[in-house]
Amino acid sequence: MKKALVCGAGGFIGGHLVKRLKAEGYWVRGVDIKSHEYCQTVADDFIVGDLREQSVCRRITSDVKFDELYQLAADMGGAGYIFTGEHDACVMHNSATINLNLVEEAKNTGIKKVFYSSSACIYPEGIQMDPDNSGLPEASAYPACPDSEYGWEKLFSERLYLSYARNYGMDVHIARFHNIFGPEGTWDGGKEKAPAAICRKVAAAAPGGEIEIWGDGLQTRTFLYIDECLEGIRRLMESGFSGPVNIGSDELVSINDLARRVMGIANKSVSLKHIKGPLGVRGRSSDNTLIQKKLGWRPSWPLAKGLELTYRWIEAQVRNKG
Ligand code: NAD
Repeated sequence: MKKALVCGAGGFIGGHLVKRLKAEGYWVRGVDIKSHEYCQTVADDFIVGDLREQSVCRRITSDVKFDELYQLAADMGGAGYIFTGEHDACVMHNSATINLNLVEEAKNTGIKKVFYSSSACIYPEGIQMDPDNSGLPEASAYPACPDSEYGWEKLFSERLYLSYARNYGMDVHIARFHNIFGPEGTWDGGKEKAPAAICRKVAAAAPGGEIEIWGDGLQTRTFLYIDECLEGIRRLMESGFSGPVNIGSDELVSINDLARRVMGIANKSVSLKHIKGPLGVRGRSSDNTLIQKKLGWRPSWPLAKGLELTYRWIEAQVRNKG
């Protein structure tokens, strides 16, 4: 039986990944600074610990011989967390420390196969000024100029893992996620992302009421449902390709459009009030040429399918809380 260590298992993607690996027959240890807020973990073993502590990283890797490490732990959140500037030092210090500790322990304990979750936020700001973004090929990451410190830390850590691959023969696989969404993810509290925030606002609004949208709502993004993200992670880990490779959708929508689609699912009409808020780049889409070429696969679910599943889950959370 293969053994996997999932760091960030108390979070959105990590929580789903634990379920996926269990369904595939793995023995799984999850680690996070907190338990999962929205589900009971199905991990065989779950350790609550702070991965900024080298002693914790040593402890979680030393008593079990792991075949694979999935590194998803990071200090992160949506635009309201990473684009305001208030959390820059924490984001850089916390996430870089976690990655420096984990990659070193993976090397010391001989975990050969390592997955690292990078982000579309590493791409240069200058090539994302047009809402009609035609897709970001992986090679366009350089010359680098991400629009957030979160992006710079991800870029540093990509290079960190690739250095360990080069110098210590570690089998590293890196994905750049583009806006992953789905049930059992943060939906309130300030760290939530646009799809969850909009689902929450629409669910909480009275019919004919109003919801707030940051900026003019003409900024565009692509959103990938969690199941397709997991499929991409597993395929990348089983491949001989290190990446970095985009794991994202190429179905571009504006934030206004996203809100209208959620209204359609909710069967509720509300008006959009545009207010000042942290925005990020003007347009961003995933270029899926490389993933198709290297993995013979690319995400294909239409946005509507995942959005429906996500809305139903968030609507239930809003109802339960209210
Ligand atoms: P998440 O915030 O739900 O999960 C991250 C987890 O890391 C959290 O549970 C958090 O408690 C944990 N963590 C933070 N600091 C820790 C510490 N010091 N010790 C132990 N655990 C700690 O986020 P997510 O959406 O599941 O994202 C997972 C990974 O994918 C992250 O690295 C993120 O940067 C990356 N990513 C996500 C998206 C997305 O759209 N969700 C996009 C690009 C990249």
